Amino acid sequence: MPEKLVYVKPIEIKEAVMKLGWLKDFGSFNRIPQPFMKINDMEFAEVAKRGIPEYMEYRMVAVTEGDMDDYIPALIYWYNDMGLMIVFDESNLMEFYQLGCQHDYDEKIDDKGRTDLTCKLCGFVDVIYKEEIKEV
Ligand SMILES: [Zn+2]
Repeated sequence: MPEKLVYVKPIEIKEAVMKLGWLKDFGSFNRIPQPFMKINDMEFAEVAKRGIPEYMEYRMVAVTEGDMDDYIPALIYWYNDMGLMIVFDESNLMEFYQLGCQHDYDEKIDDKGRTDLTCKLCGFVDVIYKEEIKEV
Protein backbone atom coordinates (compact mmCIF):
# COMPACT_ATOMS: atom_id res chain seq x y z
CA MET A 1 0.00 0.00 0.00
CA PRO A 2 1.30 3.46 -0.86
CA GLU A 3 2.27 5.76 1.97
CA LYS A 4 3.22 9.39 2.03
CA LEU A 5 6.19 10.36 4.16
CA VAL A 6 5.70 13.04 6.81
CA TYR A 7 8.42 14.87 8.65
CA VAL A 8 9.07 13.75 12.22
CA LYS A 9 11.60 15.51 14.45
CA PRO A 10 14.65 13.38 15.38
CA ILE A 11 13.79 13.79 19.11
CA GLU A 12 10.36 12.22 18.48
CA ILE A 13 11.95 9.25 16.68
CA LYS A 14 14.43 8.89 19.53
CA GLU A 15 11.67 8.86 22.15
CA ALA A 16 9.56 6.36 20.21
CA VAL A 17 12.48 4.00 19.55
CA MET A 18 14.08 4.18 23.00
CA LYS A 19 10.71 3.41 24.65
CA LEU A 20 10.75 -0.04 23.01
CA GLY A 21 13.73 -1.08 25.14
CA TRP A 22 15.93 -2.90 22.59
CA LEU A 23 18.36 -0.06 21.85
CA LYS A 24 21.02 1.13 24.31
CA ASP A 25 22.08 4.39 22.66
CA PHE A 26 20.20 6.26 19.91
CA GLY A 27 23.39 8.02 18.81
CA SER A 28 23.07 11.34 17.00
CA PHE A 29 23.29 12.80 13.50
CA ASN A 30 27.03 11.96 13.54
CA ARG A 31 27.01 8.84 15.73
CA ILE A 32 25.88 5.31 14.92
CA PRO A 33 23.27 3.87 17.36
CA GLN A 34 24.41 1.13 19.78
CA PRO A 35 24.51 -1.79 19.67
CA PHE A 36 25.00 -2.53 15.98
CA MET A 37 26.09 -5.59 14.03
CA LYS A 38 27.26 -5.94 10.44
CA ILE A 39 24.98 -8.14 8.36
CA ASN A 40 25.02 -9.21 4.72
CA ASP A 41 22.62 -8.17 1.95
CA MET A 42 20.54 -11.35 2.34
CA GLU A 43 20.03 -10.71 6.05
CA PHE A 44 19.14 -7.10 5.28
CA ALA A 45 16.56 -8.24 2.72
CA GLU A 46 15.04 -10.69 5.22
CA VAL A 47 13.94 -7.72 7.39
CA ALA A 48 13.44 -5.03 4.71
CA LYS A 49 10.97 -7.13 2.71
CA ARG A 50 8.56 -7.20 5.68
CA GLY A 51 7.36 -3.74 4.73
CA ILE A 52 7.69 -0.01 5.22
CA PRO A 53 9.60 0.98 8.38
CA GLU A 54 7.98 3.12 11.08
CA TYR A 55 10.62 5.82 10.69
CA MET A 56 13.47 6.60 8.32
CA GLU A 57 16.47 8.78 8.96
CA TYR A 58 19.42 10.16 7.08
CA ARG A 59 22.67 10.71 9.00
CA MET A 60 26.29 11.57 8.32
CA VAL A 61 28.12 9.24 10.68
CA ALA A 62 31.71 9.49 11.81
CA VAL A 63 34.10 6.68 10.93
CA THR A 64 37.77 6.67 11.81
CA GLU A 65 40.13 6.18 8.86
CA GLY A 66 43.69 5.91 10.19
CA ASP A 67 43.93 8.87 12.55
CA MET A 68 41.32 10.95 10.67
CA ASP A 69 37.60 11.18 11.30
CA ASP A 70 35.56 10.95 8.15
CA TYR A 71 31.80 11.37 7.76
CA ILE A 72 29.84 9.01 5.56
CA PRO A 73 26.14 8.95 4.60
CA ALA A 74 23.86 6.49 6.37
CA LEU A 75 20.20 5.59 5.94
CA ILE A 76 18.43 4.18 8.97
CA TYR A 77 15.15 2.27 8.89
CA TRP A 78 13.46 1.91 12.27
CA TYR A 79 11.11 -1.02 12.69
CA ASN A 80 9.13 -1.95 15.80
CA ASP A 81 11.63 -4.61 16.85
CA MET A 82 14.96 -3.51 15.32
CA GLY A 83 16.73 -1.01 13.12
CA LEU A 84 18.44 -1.47 9.77
CA MET A 85 21.22 0.77 8.54
CA ILE A 86 22.87 1.19 5.16
CA VAL A 87 26.15 3.10 4.99
CA PHE A 88 27.77 4.24 1.76
CA ASP A 89 31.53 4.48 1.41
CA GLU A 90 33.38 6.77 -0.99
CA SER A 91 33.09 4.33 -3.90
CA ASN A 92 29.33 3.99 -3.23
CA LEU A 93 29.71 0.47 -1.89
CA MET A 94 26.99 -0.29 0.65
CA GLU A 95 27.41 -1.96 4.00
CA PHE A 96 24.46 -3.27 5.97
CA TYR A 97 23.92 -3.24 9.72
CA GLN A 98 21.30 -4.39 12.15
CA LEU A 99 20.68 -2.03 15.07
CA GLY A 100 19.60 -3.04 18.55
CA CYS A 101 19.36 -6.26 20.51
CA GLN A 102 19.88 -9.61 18.77
CA HIS A 103 16.58 -10.85 20.22
CA ASP A 104 16.37 -14.33 21.69
CA TYR A 105 12.64 -14.97 22.05
CA ASP A 106 10.63 -17.09 24.44
CA GLU A 107 7.45 -18.01 22.57
CA LYS A 108 4.02 -18.45 24.17
CA ILE A 109 1.00 -19.31 22.00
CA ASP A 110 -2.52 -19.21 23.40
CA ASP A 111 -5.50 -21.18 22.04
CA LYS A 112 -6.81 -18.17 20.06
CA GLY A 113 -3.63 -18.11 18.01
CA ARG A 114 -2.07 -15.12 19.74
CA THR A 115 1.69 -15.49 20.03
CA ASP A 116 3.63 -13.64 22.70
CA LEU A 117 7.33 -13.29 21.98
CA THR A 118 9.41 -12.08 24.92
CA CYS A 119 13.11 -11.43 24.44
CA LYS A 120 15.25 -13.06 27.13
CA LEU A 121 17.99 -10.47 26.61
CA CYS A 122 16.25 -7.06 26.55
CA GLY A 123 12.68 -7.79 27.67
CA PHE A 124 11.08 -6.54 24.43
CA VAL A 125 7.61 -8.05 23.91
CA ASP A 126 6.19 -8.58 20.46
CA VAL A 127 2.67 -9.90 19.99
CA ILE A 128 1.65 -11.66 16.79
CA TYR A 129 -2.05 -12.24 16.15
CA LYS A 130 -3.27 -15.02 13.90
CA GLU A 131 -4.74 -12.44 11.47
CA GLU A 132 -1.28 -11.04 10.78
CA ILE A 133 -0.11 -14.40 9.50
CA LYS A 134 -3.21 -15.56 7.63
CA GLU A 135 -5.99 -13.65 5.89
CA VAL A 136 -9.33 -14.12 7.63
ZN1 LIG B 1 16.06 -8.41 22.69
